[in-house]
Amino acid sequence: MTEQTNLYDVVQIGYGPVSEIMALALARQGRKIAIFERWRERFPLPRAVCIDHELYRVLSALGMGEQLPAVSHPGPQYRWFNAEWRELLAIDWSAESISGGPEVNFVHQPTLERMFEDVVQACPNVELNLGWEAVEVTQTDDYAELVVRDCESGQQRTVRARYLIGADGANSLIRRAIGSTQEDRGFEADWLVIDVLPHEGVTLDIPPAAQYCNPTRPTTIVPAGVKDGRFFRRWEFMRLPHETAEDLEHEDVAWQLLEPWVRRDQATIVRHKVYTFRSLLADTWRKGRYIIVGDAAHVMPPFMGQGMCAGLRDDWNLAWKLDLLLDGKADASLLDTYQEERRPHVSDVIDLSMYLGKVICIPDAQKAAERDEAFFTGKALPPPPFPSLTSGILRRGADGQVAAPAGLLSPHGRVRRGGTEGRFDDVVGLGFVVISRSDAGDALDAEARAILEALNVRSVVMVAPGDRREDALVDLDGKYLPFMDAHGIDTMIVRPDFYLYGAVPHADQAGALIRDLDGDLERFGVRSHAAVEAMTA
Ligand SMILES: Cc1cc2nc3c(=O)[nH]c(=O)nc-3n(C[C@H](O)[C@H](O)[C@H](O)COP(=O)(O)OP(=O)(O)OC[C@H]3O[C@@H](n4cnc5c(N)ncnc54)[C@H](O)[C@@H]3O)c2cc1C
Repeated sequence: MTEQTNLYDVVQIGYGPVSEIMALALARQGRKIAIFERWRERFPLPRAVCIDHELYRVLSALGMGEQLPAVSHPGPQYRWFNAEWRELLAIDWSAESISGGPEVNFVHQPTLERMFEDVVQACPNVELNLGWEAVEVTQTDDYAELVVRDCESGQQRTVRARYLIGADGANSLIRRAIGSTQEDRGFEADWLVIDVLPHEGVTLDIPPAAQYCNPTRPTTIVPAGVKDGRFFRRWEFMRLPHETAEDLEHEDVAWQLLEPWVRRDQATIVRHKVYTFRSLLADTWRKGRYIIVGDAAHVMPPFMGQGMCAGLRDDWNLAWKLDLLLDGKADASLLDTYQEERRPHVSDVIDLSMYLGKVICIPDAQKAAERDEAFFTGKALPPPPFPSLTSGILRRGADGQVAAPAGLLSPHGRVRRGGTEGRFDDVVGLGFVVISRSDAGDALDAEARAILEALNVRSVVMVAPGDRREDALVDLDGKYLPFMDAHGIDTMIVRPDFYLYGAVPHADQAGALIRDLDGDLERFGVRSHAAVEAMTA
């Protein structure tokens, strides 16, 4: 057994999609990262098939905007039917989203992860260790220490990092090291998940995306992404009370279940596997230098297609906070806002996923008839709305409550400045941004300007096409000005993770908004004050 010790900014355990995106977000900050994953090969089983608009924007911001169209396709209407094919509810995944593009895009997870991996491999500051299992962790005031074991030779290494991120999935070692319990929301159902590749030229007579809420066999029929121009399909079949998971895992059984939809001579089964869908939420997401993200922190039934998306949201929330912290610009207490912001959000997404799960997971004819009746007579509760941020670094009013529209996801679209046209994130860049519709910046006092400079906040004026104000951004897709109209906003501050810190209705309140942000960040040791005093002296 040999031992060696290295110091990294961040060590990540696990190399699933959530770890890959965490690594990319930190790599672009220039951090020194090591990843340890126990398997040498990529996880081969069927899982995520869709990614929502917010994360599509995140992936684009991380430099994958040009590759994404080749590995994804826009979602269709997602329709829920009873056994007689009467519609119970519909979710329009094709609708134009606030982030630009459709609400949901479909992906083939192995192909998507291959794209992530190619980008990770191109980062010289990310060290990827496949075939290494994390076996033991400890931490001191100065660093976290991880013992990893080569899965083939048994050789062990010890590595040190300023922070240790457990992106190690549902059975997380780091969650155990944190000592976190898990809240069980009580959802549990077994489903056989089958990915199918139709033969070339075969057209199937199936709904584009549907939940067939037939109590004799609750069934999911959805796209499963695209690879090299070939479109995959996904079927999911609920295990009925008299069956075992083993019964369902035989390929012959899979074909029997597929028979009404697709025949053996029309397609190939790519993967099939029985999963137990559960709803679990960790109570503690960080202890000192240990942090958990993704399935390590939360799992949910996949009916809303949000498990991976929720994990990528964890990454994006954590990344800008670690950026300030690792640069010595904030105290570790800033990381307390990670769980404070993300846990309530994902808790609501779990509720939404469970709401949908409870609509379909009814294998009893009588109960299914009651459900149908409730939907058809308008007595069924509608799905809860998709959540916003409700706590953390958000502007508050005099009553201490979060001041609307703080916490909403900000709009995103194409803009033009001078001769440059493109996505807002590419034209303006990432980080805090002040967006005004008036020339609020001209009215700012020296202190507010100094705060913006000290916090490295970009400031832009958004105008309608035809408005020729110099240096202004033209709202080409009509994303920003209608949003600002709808919420009575003159000036808003967007956080690095695209959520609104806060907004004011009049240009002369922009200075107060900026001072509030400064005050809120100062609580976590982000000290613009010294710089501001020097600048305004
Ligand atoms: C059927 C199904 C459909 C789904 N559909 C969707 C969807 O449409 N959209 C969506 O957003 N989500 C969906 N999900 C959820 C999504 O697949 C998961 O949430 C996501 O893959 C979790 O990613 P992760 O990186 O957190 O964890 P994982 O992908 O589980 O990765 C964790 C990694 O950590 C490694 N690891 C664990 N312990 C150690 C250790 N001690 N040492 C080293 N390595 C370790 C594991 O080997 C693994 O590779 C679906 C899930 C299922 C099951």
